[in-house]
Amino acid sequence: MARAASAYYAGRDPFGRGGDFTTAPEISQAFGECLGLWAAVTWQMMGAPAPLRLVELGPGRGTLMADALRAVAEMVPAFRAAAEVHLVETSPALQAAQAARLPGATWHERAEAVPPGPAIVIANEFFDALPIRQFVRRGEAWQERFVAAGGFVEQPAEAAPLLPEAAPEGAVHEVSEPGLAVARQLGERLCRQGGAALVIDYGPAGPGFGDSLQAMAAHGRADPLAEPGSVDITAHVPFPALAAAARQAGSAVHGPLPMGLFLQRLGLMSRAAILARSNPRSAGLILSGAERLVAPEGMGRLFKALCLCHPGLANPPGFEPA
Ligand code: SAH
Repeated sequence: MARAASAYYAGRDPFGRGGDFTTAPEISQAFGECLGLWAAVTWQMMGAPAPLRLVELGPGRGTLMADALRAVAEMVPAFRAAAEVHLVETSPALQAAQAARLPGATWHERAEAVPPGPAIVIANEFFDALPIRQFVRRGEAWQERFVAAGGFVEQPAEAAPLLPEAAPEGAVHEVSEPGLAVARQLGERLCRQGGAALVIDYGPAGPGFGDSLQAMAAHGRADPLAEPGSVDITAHVPFPALAAAARQAGSAVHGPLPMGLFLQRLGLMSRAAILARSNPRSAGLILSGAERLVAPEGMGRLFKALCLCHPGLANPPGFEPA
């Protein structure tokens, strides 16, 4: 899965109509704008440190960050002045796309390479692209699922991570070791050096079993094994496991909340209404895009927002207790 995903992203821009899938920042500019203001208010709550490392993991086309920076330059110029943009991206093709939109940013291959100091980290649809291992319950033991000769095979699990003790026959348990490592590392960094991380992705808010490996091509489901490296391959993000890893490393955790609720609390629909009024010819598209992000039957319920932060920080915007 790691090799397939890396080959997939290395040479292409997969987003949008002509591509394989679309993401929230590509659907509505209000998404990046609201997250930019989320970062600015969180920075004020941190005591407005300068410089601030404004980090994005897996920035895709750079759309989210460009929308965020434009909004904060206008609304909170002191935050824009303090923010030093760091992008964590492994794909050469996407690094080039980001460079065209985000002059002055610094690129890294790994999150650990971002220089120390107070940070605000944003990760939208980053964790779902990280590789998973799958374990299948057979009798009283776990077997690991491997790919061999174009199909899946099961073998006894060796050097397995901690797996649930009990599970129904045939249950599938997924573990993303790289994802847990990033959550642990963010948890450690934020607790020592201050700051917050906002993780937005799709996956369940509670524990559970299930095979969530999926592939997408041309906006439809594809067979993950048919053409590895030429289709988008992802898995659901296990929010409780990420939260536990960050908490163990010393950070506080807020959420996960359904993304629709989080974005509504940040005022995404009001922002979309303003954009629609000033662009009457695109008003329908602007409003339906924003609606898709918040509606439960759109992306509003499947997607979640999770915040990891320094334990001394009050509830970040959108994570206020109901
Ligand atoms: N956040 C963007 C893109 C999501 S797609 C958006 O919302 O539109 C996933 C992104 O993560 C791509 O930019 C991909 O190249 C990057 N990526 C995937 N695996 C990565 C890894 N191991 N390290 C760094 N970036 C990675």
